[in-house]
Amino acid sequence: LSPLAPTIILMSSNTTKVPGSAERRDSYTGLSEPHSDALRKLDLAYTMKTKWEREFLRAIAELEGLGTHEELGFESVAGFLSSHCGMGYRRTEEQVEVAVALKELPSMDKAYCDGKLGYDHLRAIIPVASSENETDLAEKVEGMSVGATFRLACKMKPVDKQAAIDARSERSLMMRWDLDTAMFELYARLPEDLGAMVEKAIDAIAVSAPEDPLFVEENLRTPMQVKRADALYELVTGGISESSRSAHVVVHVDAETLRAGEGSGEIEGGPTISPETIDRLLCDSVLQTVVDGFDGKPIAFGRSRRTAPPRMKQELIKRDGTCRWPHCRRRKLLQAHHIDHYVAGGRTDFDDMVVFCWVHHPLVHEGGYEVVGQPPNIAIKAPNGFLIRHGPPRGQPQGR
Ligand SMILES: [Zn+2]
Ligand SMILES: [Zn+2]
Repeated sequence: LSPLAPTIILMSSNTTKVPGSAERRDSYTGLSEPHSDALRKLDLAYTMKTKWEREFLRAIAELEGLGTHEELGFESVAGFLSSHCGMGYRRTEEQVEVAVALKELPSMDKAYCDGKLGYDHLRAIIPVASSENETDLAEKVEGMSVGATFRLACKMKPVDKQAAIDARSERSLMMRWDLDTAMFELYARLPEDLGAMVEKAIDAIAVSAPEDPLFVEENLRTPMQVKRADALYELVTGGISESSRSAHVVVHVDAETLRAGEGSGEIEGGPTISPETIDRLLCDSVLQTVVDGFDGKPIAFGRSRRTAPPRMKQELIKRDGTCRWPHCRRRKLLQAHHIDHYVAGGRTDFDDMVVFCWVHHPLVHEGGYEVVGQPPNIAIKAPNGFLIRHGPPRGQPQGR
């Protein structure tokens, strides 16, 4: 049995529409013969390709339903298909997911069969589609670009609080010399708050940096990328300049989300984040955090209203000495944590704050740990109720 043996199958007569194909054909009238011919061939091939793609998905769904792969000794449909059809496992797995999901999503299936949604749209939107929302979703996505569909799906996904903590443990910054060209290379994977801060700090300087008169466009390098490199120079030599001090990390959120502590917000131009993360960003950030309603009106400010003023933070660090997480000895990367969260109407008040390092700070927001006791003598209550006691602060005794 050769999976690749050519088979002739007669196409059924119900032709399906390729999105926008009619409009595209109209625009061919101004083209000369060989070009318009080539385009017509392409359109026909594309129509057939999408049609057979649908048939292929249906066949996958049927195999999965019957459990044919198990009969043949395969653990998964994707495993069987990748061996049987010689396809990459990852893509096969994705196709199985789409094929199986379509069985339960009749409106999506119809929109797909009618050519209103392409496969890539399905791939993007299916993880957030359910029998309740699929009809609305199919309508919403019709005519949307694949990129916009992915963004919509991203916003609809519930924010994973654990992910904010996991992202921290996966943080990395790779540095290497390319000795051939004597160039230094940086590649960083940073969690959302540091990512937003780096982006804002660098771009705040870069936007006002002068254009390099010697700039030559090559390898998709843009003038902005050159300016960012210059901005990095400014950052490492002169610290954060005045221009980036006034830069804001803007978080868009519903006022209702902030009050109720449910739903999600969004770092401008960045990822979706949970209310707990918003709360943490408002606790203390190097750059000012502005929480903005989706109507553009600011709801809360990090630095001006919430974040400890620099002088108060210095005092806190003096009092606590190190991060107040049990056994953490970090004296740097410290952030002032408000025990009463903003959502709960918390104050910015010395006796209500302790310092945590930026790795432990998320644990008392997204991680579900709780600070108990009177600062600086605190204990940490784990989500399972276990109380982690901690010695006295290692800072200087206070005359307060
Ligand atoms: Zn905090
Ligand atoms: Zn710590």
